[in-house]
Amino acid sequence: MKITIGVEGKTYQATRPEQSGHVEAAMKCLFCGAEPLRAKGVGSNIVKGRDYYLNDNAVTLCCNKPIDFIKSEFDTIFGLEEDEQVLNGPWRVY
Ligand SMILES: [Zn+2]
Repeated sequence: MKITIGVEGKTYQATRPEQSGHVEAAMKCLFCGAEPLRAKGVGSNIVKGRDYYLNDNAVTLCCNKPIDFIKSEFDTIFGLEEDEQVLNGPWRVY
């Protein structure tokens, strides 16, 4: 699966750590400087494309600032449920 996030008009590669409900990008948060940047979708504003999910209602975990989007592109049908949990899961406190 390929995951990208949009922050302040730019697109960055991201990954989803095993067993986690968020995505991570190897970069500093543009808002507060936390590294790596962790983000998570909120609400249910998901666009389901033929081979991707796009959630344009996402926030950083570090400082709860809105980012542009989280996009998950996948090669197969497997893993969709997990993807949906990431993009549209309940808010988790770590
Ligand atoms: Zn931050």
